[in-house]
Formats: sequence, C-alpha cells, structure tokens
Amino acid sequence: MATLLPFLQRTSIAYFSMEIALRPEIHSYSGGLGILAGDTARSCADLELPVVFVTLASRAGYLRQEIAADGSQVGHDDPWSPAEWATPLDVMIAVTIEGRSVWIRPWLYVVTCPIGHQVPVLLLDTSLDQNTPEDRKITDRLYGGDDVYRLKQEIVLGIGGVRVLQALGFSIGTYHLNEGHAAFLTLELLRRRRRDRPGSNGLAHEADHVRNMCVFTTHTPVEAGHDRFSYEAVTRVLGSDFVPLDEIKPLAGEDRLNMTRLALNLSGYVNGVARRHAETTQRMFPGYTIAAITNGVHAPTWTHPAFAKLYQDILPNWGHEPELLVRADQLRDEDVWAAHQMAKRELLEEIRRSTGVVMDPDVPLVGFARRMTGYKRPDLLFSDMQRLRTINGRLPFQVVMAGKAHPRDMQGQHMIRDIHDRMRQLAPDMRIAFLPNYDMALARTLVAGADVWLNTPLPPMEASGTSGMKAALNGVLNLSVLDGWWIEACIDGVTGWAIGRDGGSEGAERHALELYDKLERQVLPLYYQDRARWAWMMKQGISKIASYFNSQRMMRRYTTEAYVRP
Ligand SMILES: *Cc1c(COP(=O)(O)O)cnc(C)c1O
Repeated sequence: MATLLPFLQRTSIAYFSMEIALRPEIHSYSGGLGILAGDTARSCADLELPVVFVTLASRAGYLRQEIAADGSQVGHDDPWSPAEWATPLDVMIAVTIEGRSVWIRPWLYVVTCPIGHQVPVLLLDTSLDQNTPEDRKITDRLYGGDDVYRLKQEIVLGIGGVRVLQALGFSIGTYHLNEGHAAFLTLELLRRRRRDRPGSNGLAHEADHVRNMCVFTTHTPVEAGHDRFSYEAVTRVLGSDFVPLDEIKPLAGEDRLNMTRLALNLSGYVNGVARRHAETTQRMFPGYTIAAITNGVHAPTWTHPAFAKLYQDILPNWGHEPELLVRADQLRDEDVWAAHQMAKRELLEEIRRSTGVVMDPDVPLVGFARRMTGYKRPDLLFSDMQRLRTINGRLPFQVVMAGKAHPRDMQGQHMIRDIHDRMRQLAPDMRIAFLPNYDMALARTLVAGADVWLNTPLPPMEASGTSGMKAALNGVLNLSVLDGWWIEACIDGVTGWAIGRDGGSEGAERHALELYDKLERQVLPLYYQDRARWAWMMKQGISKIASYFNSQRMMRRYTTEAYVRP
C-alpha cells in the first residue's frame, strides 16, 4: 500500500498536467504531452527532485482505436481501473461547479526509478457517491466532450489540484503548468492569497506573489490551438465571486478567457519546448520573456533491452546519466547491427501478428507514427504514388505507420482512411502496414524496430516532437523536415537527414520532392551499398542525440533555470 508520508516534508514543487503516461496499462494520456509528463516524472524520480505530479484520473481513457474494414478509425472507450494500480487517499475536497459542490478524491501512484528513488503522482477523481451522476464523469474522458466539459475538467485540475495538495498537507512553493490546461491554479493561488491577507496591497501586488510561484511551459505554436472559454460559460460554471471578471479579463483576454494568456500573465518563468518553438512563441506574444528548454526523453524507458545491454557493458551508469552516451560511438558495428536487427524482428513480428503483413528483415523499414492530424501531414509520403512505386522498384523499402486521430478531428479521421486507400493501391508492389492503437507500448516497439524514422510536419507547427529522440536512442536514423527539436539535432548525413531548409517556406510539394530525392539518392542507397557507413551513422545518432535530448538534462535545466530563480 503506497503512502504519502515520505513525500510530504520534502516536496516543494507541484507539476500539473492534464495527461501523464505512467505505464501502458494506465490510460491517463493521449500522446506527446502525456509522454513528456511521464518522462518528466521518471527523471524527477531518478534525480530525487522534490516534485509531486497532479493530473486527472481519466478512468475512461482517451481513445482505443480500431481500424474498420474500409480503413476508417473506430473509436472506443479505453477504461482502466485506478484501484488496480493506485491507492485511494483519505482526503476529499470540493470545488464549486454550476453552483454545486463537486467532490474530488485523489489516487496515489508512486513512480519508482531503476535505482529506487520515488515521486508521487496524484490522479484526481470525481467518481464519488457524493457527486451527481453527471459530475462523476468530469474526470472520465481525456479531451472528450464539449467546451463546457473541458472547462469543468480544467477547474477540477487547476483549482481542485491546489486544494487537494493543501488538504494532504503539502507545502508547495513552485507550481509548474505543463501547458495551459492547469492555468486556473493561478486564480486559485490569487484567491487564496487574498483570503489570507484581506485588505492588502491590491491586485498587482498579489499577482506578483503568484508569478513568483508559477512556471509555465507552453506547447502550442498557434493561437488557434489554445484553450479558450466564453466568459458566459465561465460565469455560469465557475460562478462570479471566484475571482471577479473585471479582474480576470486583463489577465486572460477581454473577449474570451484564454488559458495560455492567463498562464503567461501569472507565471514568472515561461518557456517553449525547443529553441525554434520559443522564438515562434516570442513572436506570438511580444512583451513576455519566453525561454527555451528543449524537450528530452527518459533514456531507460525508451531504449530496447538489446541496446540497453550494449550501453550497460561500456557505460554502466548510462541510464542515470545519459550524457555518457556521447561515448556510444565506441560501440562495435556488429554489436549495434545485431541489437538493431533483434529490435527490428520484434517489430516485424508485431506487424505480422496485428495486420497479417509479412515484412523482410533485410529490406529497409521506414516508420511513421504520430497523431493523425493536419499539420503532421501523415499523407505527405503518398503525394506522388508513381514516384513512390518507381523508387520502390529500384530500391525496395517497406513502411509501417500508426497514429490516432482525435474523434472530433475530421481531417485527421479522413487522413487515416485515405492512407488506407493508398496502402491498398500500393500493396501488390510494396510491403506496407498500419498498426492500430498507437500507444506507449506500441511506440516502444516502433521506435526501436524501424530503420528510418520519418517526420513530415508543416513548420513551425511541431513545437518539439519527441519520438525521433526515442528512435535515436535505438540507433534508428531520423529523416525529418527541419522543425522543432530536429533543427537542433540534425547534422545532415551524420545524425540523420533533413527535408527542407531551416526557416525555409517550402510548401508540401517541395517537401514531398525532397523526401523522395533523399530516399532515392541517399537513404536507400546507403542502406544497400554501404552498411559500414550506415552503422557509423547509427552510432553518430546515438552519441550526438541521445546524450543531449534526454529528460535528465531537461529536468536539470528546469531545476536550475525555472524552479530556482534569482
Ligand atoms: C513519443 C510519443 C508521442 C510523441 O511523439 P511526436 O514525435 O512528438 O509525435 C506520441 N504518442 C506516443 C504514444 C509516444 O510514445
């Protein structure tokens, strides 16, 4: 039975995230944002950082994806049972929603790192007898329902989260907002400060106090991606005496309550998740200082056991101190190749089991797995079917894809069906498969077993991207449009390959052409004709990428730059 006792005294930082990927069986995440939160927790445990994580229980999960015979996505609930994995804590607090008290009870899950250190995660749950049947479902479905449902979830996370921490006896000095979803916590801190010091020095002074406690990491490079709520809905759901509207509006926007604006205005440290993303955010929000802390991934979580063994043999502390992987260029080519082929065979077996498609371990395998949505352009690879066939005729290659579309993202849903149409057209000549239900477990298999990891986002939309970092840990070579983290990691022809120019304004057509050219003239010939250079590149990728783009380095930077400020 897990207990909070060891954590109460030492914890001073609370990390709030709408989603977190703790393990494949706990469906409280949807994609990159949750994976990042999970890797953050794993690194906080490694580094013994005094952090508690706060998220929603999301009992019904995000989306279990099935692909129908016609190639369209069929979405199902993806429930999990908190009682199986977490411990209910003996505390209940309420928030006011539509004038009712909605009760919240946290579950405790403890993240334990390989060397035994731990951090607590609180999963907020409204599924309680005390609540109305409707309110019991507030913490059910991640990113589900309409705007009002989302607003209620964000009230539970932000306001409920702060109250739960206090009721449990935590004394928190720093609140880290992973994306704007938790921004209501700033208003709760403001309200609490007022309550504790009635008649003090006015809003500006109180706001300064809150800013000193809040760190905000933004992840969305376009305004349209930010959560916004009408003040009519806010007044109806949150009530009018929480924080008066005439005080919220200058902080969160005059027309609608913009969660990003609110977080920006009440956080003393704001950062983007890669250098380019921080620059883009800075242009979008002039007048704020936007720092850059480039994302990383948790090395032991995403490294295939065969590679972990190689690293362990020459760099025994690599999991705790992934900087050591800078020396992975000393590995023997044969060992690297053997480890890779083992991971590849596991992926091929998964493809056969799941789709019936039989692939060849000696033919290069291009992997593409991400959220199926417009800006990720999962269909770019198929923009010239004739060219694709021609390349495959000369230098055969195989393709594996995966990814979910949000149930309300019609373009994303359409892309999944369209990709399946294309796959059917190519199937007689080309080995190609789509694995359903991309999740943490499938990601581990994919990022280790592909030969080439493809990414074709529309710049500057890919704030960071992290799956390519996971691929690099396993010696998988990135072929990617220059955006997000890849701008910082790509040395063309050394750590992988670039599509397009940094800061270029090429359209999809140009990117597709370059993708085909790179495949036909560089990537595939290298695989077939110069295996030694290929193995050298794998080692360059590991040593130059994995040694830096890890969440250990990322958390050390958050600690010294964001959590401890002058
Ligand atoms: C790593 C990961 C992501 C994020 O990958 P991107 O490169 O940012 O698209 C999304 N989903 C899952 C399941 C992952 O493991």
